[in-house]
Amino acid sequence: ALWHVLGAGSLGSLWATRLARANVPVRLVLRDAARVAAYEAAGGCLTLIENDASRSFPIPAQTLDDQVPIARLLVACKAYDAEQAVAQLAHRLNADAEVILLQNGLGSQDAVAAQVPHARCVFASSTEGAFRKADWQVVFAGHGFPWLGSVTDPAPPSLLEDVRASAIPHEWTPDILTRLWRKLALNCAINPLTVLYDCRNGGLLDHHCEVATLCAELADLLRCCGQPAAAEDLHSEVLRVIKATAANYSSMYQDVAHRRRTEISYLLGYACAAAARHRCPAPHLLQLQTRLATLLASKGLRTD
Ligand code: NAP
Repeated sequence: ALWHVLGAGSLGSLWATRLARANVPVRLVLRDAARVAAYEAAGGCLTLIENDASRSFPIPAQTLDDQVPIARLLVACKAYDAEQAVAQLAHRLNADAEVILLQNGLGSQDAVAAQVPHARCVFASSTEGAFRKADWQVVFAGHGFPWLGSVTDPAPPSLLEDVRASAIPHEWTPDILTRLWRKLALNCAINPLTVLYDCRNGGLLDHHCEVATLCAELADLLRCCGQPAAAEDLHSEVLRVIKATAANYSSMYQDVAHRRRTEISYLLGYACAAAARHRCPAPHLLQLQTRLATLLASKGLRTD
């Protein structure tokens, strides 16, 4: 069946090119006619750069208001763009459409699912890395794979056949929420502090106590939210990640460094809102959110 990939950024391009490589039919859905014109003027191809080898794939592009019905949709925009973008093409989804949501954090998935109640939504939690070298060119930084899962239906969806055929590494799990919560907690314990202390992940080894306090609060919060499995050994995994990625700049650090909007509302912001909703005390998380928002505002960046 035909796939539509919404958003030709880093992950969208990574998925679209791998599907195209396996001869799965793909269409890109870009934000407007100007973006489609720019893509076509650049040759109408997406380039995948992997292990220094590059290969281009001619993938047709269209706008959100095209009329072609959608059977398989990969939503690959940022969390803060997903709900509105999907709302614009919801009427094009078939009754049995399948939708993969690649967004980091939590909150956007439920907002998108509410826009398309007739479709089957699959949530993804990915540790795969990719970045845009230039428009329409993506570098596969590798490492990791996406967990895919559905909150409402533990049976694997039929689109997994194409994912498998495209040699896209992945695992199906009936427990995707645990994965998403765990990744959110790791993000909250690491990313905001790297922005506040202006450091690589490894720099947090100098802030051991602060990291430990945040991990204890996050673990309490996960248990309050009915996610005890996501709380297990959180602190030791955070330390393991900090050490294993000591030389890296976190994604939030890079967003701030490039003056891009962060996904804070779907990460630390979501955690703080969940703490309030469940009346779970989280003073250090709240203080962290205030400090981060103040810093973002001082740089003229959005705080939502
Ligand atoms: P990205 O490179 O910024 O790509 C997002 C794309 O969405 C952009 O190309 C943007 O278009 C497009 N877009 C936004 N609004 C749109 C609309 N209304 N219609 C059509 N296209 C629209 O972002 P990314 O790095 O791929 O990240 C996507 C999600 O995956 C995020 O939630 C991120 O946290 C998560 N994630 C990313 C990675 C990674 O390695 N990159 C890893 C794990 C998770 P323009 O080009 O026109 O701006």
